[in-house]
Amino acid sequence: MGNGEQRGKVALVTGASRGIGRAVAIQLARDGAKVICVSRSEASATPTAEAIRADGGESDPFAVDVSRAEAVQAACRDILEKHGRVDILVNCAGINRDNMCLLMTDDEWNAVLATDLSSCFHWTKHLCRSMVRNRWGRVINISSVIGLVGNGGQANYAAAKAGVIAFTKSIARELASRNITANAIAPGFIDTDMTAPLPEAIREKVLEQIPLRKFGRPEDVASAVSFLASDRSSYITGHVLNVDGGMVMA
Ligand code: NAP
Repeated sequence: MGNGEQRGKVALVTGASRGIGRAVAIQLARDGAKVICVSRSEASATPTAEAIRADGGESDPFAVDVSRAEAVQAACRDILEKHGRVDILVNCAGINRDNMCLLMTDDEWNAVLATDLSSCFHWTKHLCRSMVRNRWGRVINISSVIGLVGNGGQANYAAAKAGVIAFTKSIARELASRNITANAIAPGFIDTDMTAPLPEAIREKVLEQIPLRKFGRPEDVASAVSFLASDRSSYITGHVLNVDGGMVMA
């Protein structure tokens, strides 16, 4: 349940069609924000926007391939023209293309880096000007515990997610004087389309490494985003918040 504390704010959530991004978009709308739901196609983004409207919230779908720099730049221009501002940016769109490093193709490497890391740079670069102007903003980047500890078969994904953390800390330093915070969330194993293909034996092995003995739900990540997007977190920046049932403890 939301408390309306984001009323008057505009949020943009990438990867909003499914899984974690969908739960984040719905939560921020319950918190009172108008939410722009970004995913690859109009057809995939629209159901989340419709669910928000059915729940009494405000939302627009927006289709753009976040891995394409020029497309993101053009999207930011259109969005700022239509909505005037974006106060909360949640970079959640992501893919994995797993393979052992020695077998990994350039396409597998480049697709993950472009979608999971470079997209954060492009959205931040083109949307933060409006936050700077308003002297308030929140950037929340979805990383992963894999970006903290690495994983065999996921060198591309781990590098991208570690990059997201370093990127977040750097922009946190750059934007702090303008009252903009930037934080990363490192989810552990969350039940979504991304983790669904994993074989049962691997799921059981992962479960053994989670002290809370359960997989996370997209809503677990959404409530962390809701906090980091709010004024309740105004003295927190450059932080990495693990949402992982205790899987990785520093
Ligand atoms: P998911 O269910 O597979 O959803 C992925 C989302 O990203 C979809 O909305 C998809 O849009 C969007 N997307 C992918 N490539 C895109 C592109 N090129 N342009 C625009 N949108 C694109 O994934 P998830 O599990 O919710 O993961 C969300 C984020 O959390 C990812 O960054 C992931 O790395 C991270 N994460 C997940 C877990 C986990 O256990 N699930 C753990 C740690 C971190 P379409 O529907 O249009 O394809």
